[in-house]
Amino acid sequence: MDPRVPEPSCNGHSAEHPAGSGEVETLLQHLGEEEHPLGALVPPLFQSAIYTYRDLDLFEAANEAPYREDPVYSPWGNPTVSLVERKMAALDGTEAAKLTGDGMAAIGTALLASLERGSHVVTVDSTYSTTLRLLRETLERYGVRFTCVDGRDPETIFDAVTADTSVIYLESPSSLLFRLQDLRAIAAFAKQRGITTMIDNTYSTPLFQRPAELGVDIVLQSTSKYLGGHSDLNGGAICTTKERIERMAHGEVKLFGTIMAPFVAWLLLRGLRTLPLRLRHVQESANLVASWLEQRPEVEVVHHVGLASYPQRELFLSQMRGSTGLFTFVPKNQDREWTKAFLEALRVFRIGVSWGGPFSLAIPVTDPTSPAESPVRMIRLYCGLEHPKDLVADLDQALEAAHRKCP
Ligand SMILES: *Cc1c(COP(=O)(O)O)cnc(C)c1O
Repeated sequence: MDPRVPEPSCNGHSAEHPAGSGEVETLLQHLGEEEHPLGALVPPLFQSAIYTYRDLDLFEAANEAPYREDPVYSPWGNPTVSLVERKMAALDGTEAAKLTGDGMAAIGTALLASLERGSHVVTVDSTYSTTLRLLRETLERYGVRFTCVDGRDPETIFDAVTADTSVIYLESPSSLLFRLQDLRAIAAFAKQRGITTMIDNTYSTPLFQRPAELGVDIVLQSTSKYLGGHSDLNGGAICTTKERIERMAHGEVKLFGTIMAPFVAWLLLRGLRTLPLRLRHVQESANLVASWLEQRPEVEVVHHVGLASYPQRELFLSQMRGSTGLFTFVPKNQDREWTKAFLEALRVFRIGVSWGGPFSLAIPVTDPTSPAESPVRMIRLYCGLEHPKDLVADLDQALEAAHRKCP
């Protein structure tokens, strides 16, 4: 008998769990969760950094192939982290997944693993600003070049590809402007040319968009947002083929230490259990709030993929299964004073970065494609788990307050 396996159960539990597949709600509760010998319903947290052996052969086998799930040293593979990785892979419909310290660790790890000196990257101009900084400020220093295009028309991406292009990096919907790229068309184009496609899927989560099914090679997420779901953890996920995950796990993840900590994975597991319920709520709430805002005289335009007026509605319906709680609006009054009066008058929404948790949040942002000398000011809103009536009432009184201050 394997000396590391606990004694068989004394209260009749078997190791096999009967409900590891099925619909996503079921999978989130059961997949990969073996019954515990004591019947503990919630999987225990493996906080141990080191895993010891009494059999040298078993130790050497595990040490040489640390991805066989036999733990040796926590940063190389931890049972709690591995459990959540299995769930993430199943959610995204990929062979394997790797969890990382935050979303940027997932993005950085995947890019480093796919690029070399002289490589060229094509991305879109409304990609998450920190990702663009990684390309511009760090990877360019190592000889990687990149080109930003609009991306709504796939031809803009195809035209930017050169003989050196090794990665097409997508973000759909993109940050702040929520623009879509045609994932099927771009993935098919890239596949023909041997170019790796990656997507930042943080906005949609695998519940509302499964890019691997549309042909995208590497799916990246910040789990700090909806997947964790409670604004109490930072994490990231890379979902792709087993071969790529093993290469990254042995390479960049191990060498740069971009791992997720076991306790964070344990919290993430808890967050994931309610993901479908939370997404249904924020989708309904944000659609209601955005439709209401769109009618207000103070508002120029609302950028929200869930609106009937959304310009890429057809593509949205063909590649996504839902919209979520995040959007921006452009106020007619572009003065900083108006923005300040509006944001400071909010009572339910609070001024704060990030999103994806229970609390509604608002921040001032600028349109990344607007010229630096005349930036277009926008407000980004995240609709959390509060009742949408209270969110509308809050925005209503804040718009009135801003109007009183800056008529
Ligand atoms: C938040 C975010 C990230 C970065 O994730 P962190 O977990 O904060 O590092 C990357 N991409 C998008 C689209 C994000 O919203």
